[in-house]
Amino acid sequence: MIAAQLLAYYFTELKDDQLKKIDKYLYSMRFSDETLKDIMNRFRREMEGGLGRDTNATSTVKMLPTFVRSIPDGSEKGDFVALDLGGSNFRILRVKVTRDKKQPVQMESQVYDTPDDIIHGNGTQLFGHVADCLGDFMEKQKIKDKKIPVGFTFSFPCAQSKLDEAVLLTWTKKFKASGVEGMDVVKLLNKAIKKRGSCSSVSHSGTGTNACYMEELRHIDLVEGDEGRMCINTEWGAFGDDGSLEDIRTEFDREIDRGSANPGKQLFEKMVSGMYMGELVRLILVKMAKEGLLFEGRITPELLTKGKIETKHVSAIEKTKEGLKKCMEILTRLGVEPSDEDCLAVQHVCTIVSFRSANLIASTLGGILARLKENKGVARLRTTVGIDGSMYKMHPQYARRLHKTVRRLVPDSDVRFLLSESGSAKGAAMVTAVAYRLTEQSRQIQQTLAEFRLSKAQLLEVKKRMRAEIERGLKKETHKEAAVKMLPTFVRSTPDGTENGDFLALDLGGTNFRVLLVKIRSGKRRTVEMHNKIYAIPLEVMQGTGDELFDHIVHCISDFLDYMGMKSARLPLGFTFSFPCHQTSLDAGILVTWTKGFKATDCEGENVVELLREAIKRKEEFELDVVAIVNDTVGTMMTCAYEEPTCEVGLIAGTGSNACYMEEMKNIEIVEGNEGRMCVNMEWGAFGDNGCLDDIRTQYDQAVDENSLNEGKQRYEKMCSGMYLGEIVRQILIDLTKRGFLFRGQISETLKTRGIFETKFLSQIESDRLALLQVRAILQQLGLDSTCDDSIIVKEVCGTVSRRAAQICGAGMAAVVDKIRENRGLDHLDVTVGVDGTLYKLHPHFSRIFLQTVKELAPKCDVNFLLSEDGSGKGAALITAVGFRQRELDAQQH
Ligand code: ADP
Ligand code: MG
Repeated sequence: MIAAQLLAYYFTELKDDQLKKIDKYLYSMRFSDETLKDIMNRFRREMEGGLGRDTNATSTVKMLPTFVRSIPDGSEKGDFVALDLGGSNFRILRVKVTRDKKQPVQMESQVYDTPDDIIHGNGTQLFGHVADCLGDFMEKQKIKDKKIPVGFTFSFPCAQSKLDEAVLLTWTKKFKASGVEGMDVVKLLNKAIKKRGSCSSVSHSGTGTNACYMEELRHIDLVEGDEGRMCINTEWGAFGDDGSLEDIRTEFDREIDRGSANPGKQLFEKMVSGMYMGELVRLILVKMAKEGLLFEGRITPELLTKGKIETKHVSAIEKTKEGLKKCMEILTRLGVEPSDEDCLAVQHVCTIVSFRSANLIASTLGGILARLKENKGVARLRTTVGIDGSMYKMHPQYARRLHKTVRRLVPDSDVRFLLSESGSAKGAAMVTAVAYRLTEQSRQIQQTLAEFRLSKAQLLEVKKRMRAEIERGLKKETHKEAAVKMLPTFVRSTPDGTENGDFLALDLGGTNFRVLLVKIRSGKRRTVEMHNKIYAIPLEVMQGTGDELFDHIVHCISDFLDYMGMKSARLPLGFTFSFPCHQTSLDAGILVTWTKGFKATDCEGENVVELLREAIKRKEEFELDVVAIVNDTVGTMMTCAYEEPTCEVGLIAGTGSNACYMEEMKNIEIVEGNEGRMCVNMEWGAFGDNGCLDDIRTQYDQAVDENSLNEGKQRYEKMCSGMYLGEIVRQILIDLTKRGFLFRGQISETLKTRGIFETKFLSQIESDRLALLQVRAILQQLGLDSTCDDSIIVKEVCGTVSRRAAQICGAGMAAVVDKIRENRGLDHLDVTVGVDGTLYKLHPHFSRIFLQTVKELAPKCDVNFLLSEDGSGKGAALITAVGFRQRELDAQQH
């Protein structure tokens, strides 16, 4: 008993002694956490270098964009073939991806030989061989005549500039076929396939044996765009090729490199990959034997033969239970007559070599994880790492060691490791499937949005048609049926600065109903002082009877006069009424039709000034002198003209869309007289109501129209004003969701709700300052549960819709300014447009695109735009003042 214990003790001592000796001998292969962290940081710098525009060229870690912008979301489906070249076997797989939850991926595969003479022959032979195998596979699968997408896992460093292109940078591992480096392998393969007469076409998808991860697009200088993420193939095997790992490379690593097909390249890969593991061990054993540290100095020809110790041997030797026995067998086969101590020693060498590999991988993987953590800005990273590779799968300790080290190096993280079961080929199929889904999806989305993207020719056509409609509205014989009514306003001149007095103004037809008191003072220091109060118009009043509407208005005026203490003064009043009205004088306007949200009965066809006067009479509380009925466009023009005499055009881009301008009296056939000019309220919102814009209207515009209060009317306005842009967006989103491209195909109640997508959200979403996450937050606020990919799509939809709005609005304006120029027989016109409207003022891109369009479509005009401050109030007062003065003058003359 005691003897046995002593003996065991003796052996433990011996073992410890032996192992310590080897530890010391292979000191340079054992890393402290300090060193590993240092390597991790070096790798992080390399990654940054690879991503940077100016540093990529010289960076060893190439960080190749894969153009895979999404990870599988489970909606992939289809039939794919994947080629897997570059691993230990050349395999071809058929992968069926279905929506079946239990068995989403079904695979069949076949391994093909790649003889050495082909691997080391020329490119044509190699790809000819691959094409032959593919043909054979397709024939066996009976899919020869089907056009099935083929994914190509080509596990060598490739530069990709798009998904189906891959230029081989350099061969690695045992491959060395000539004439392939620097070539697009996808092209080479497709050529070989064509030559063979088979009909499939191939796309490449790098999954590779190195590492890839999802990087923020804004960090990838080599790819346009700032939003979303893209899979980056790090090609980390080349880490250290610039000498940055020299301090940790050993003489054995150098020897491996010298004997390889690609000396000086893939230095990191040569330290960690399973392919070199056995060979590293062998070189160490040779040296130790030579120094008499092993096998009593015996060196056999087998031991000296390259490849005699394989990676699978290393795995076997390191097995806990039968490892030593296996070691004995393997060494005996090499003829070195090993002792028990030799076996212990060799096992320890294997441990050190494989441990080093796990540690190095852990530090580069740690670098990626630390970067992900930083990108996401989280205190704790939760992520899953999919791993493939024989070392990880087969080696008894490798996975556990790797996990442990990673967790030590990136402490604040919950990292799950997932063995990718069917290897890189399934990865390729999934990548192909994802890519296929995304390409197809983005193709369809782009096709949908393409209808909204108008060419210059189309915009010129819109301008031309607007011009034709302007003529029809002005001409006596066509005026009646014209869509663009060109309504005379009886405003014959812009203010001259002599306007003076106190005026009341009403502003009806915008978002708010307001009553204003405007005090205009003429003289050297012209001033305009305004007081106003906003009143609500309840929906039931907006859509009730005319009397109810006007009684409500008068009630509000009464309240305002009380508030101002001015009930006794019989003030002149200007009534800004922003709906199309037929005017026969400054103070008579017959409502042509309600627009926007209004629908009160018994008003259309009536003189609204009269309706207002009657309501004031009914109230019997105060008297007012209604001098002018004013359209908000005209008010806007007048306000700006008060500051800037060249202002002869008014534009509204708010709830509605409309414009006015100073037209020659002789052209306004429905008003007597040919002298001078008069402002014409175009009511251009109705442009297209005769069908002349139908070729550019989309199904979404039609849906918005059908859902509106005034179906068939205001077609142009419905394409470009604040009240409708959000609705157009909502219609597109509904359609894209129905087609499965958005919100996981789920149409939420929110999305079904009319009006949720207010135009102010478009402004927010389209703001350049917002990061994608913020866009997502906005959608979340709206009750739309979206992914980052969804947010990208929504943002693009918004941008497309508002761009079209600005462009067609600009095309209309181009027609107007060119008409003014031609009216005056000028080659060149300088003109100012007074603008009002929240869409114009607050949308981040509308005004810029609008101005640019006007400039492009009316090159002979220099158009200056002036923002109007409260045209509906101030403008109305100015018109009233001008009208009041005119009336006094007329009275004096008679
Ligand atoms: P109105 O034209 O009714 O007199 P506005 O010029 O203020 O009044 O325009 C209101 C319209 O502007 C609303 O219909 C809304 O759609 C739109 N809008 C409101 N906020 C924004 C914003 N931040 N960006 C763009 N459009 C907006
Ligand atoms: Mg307004």
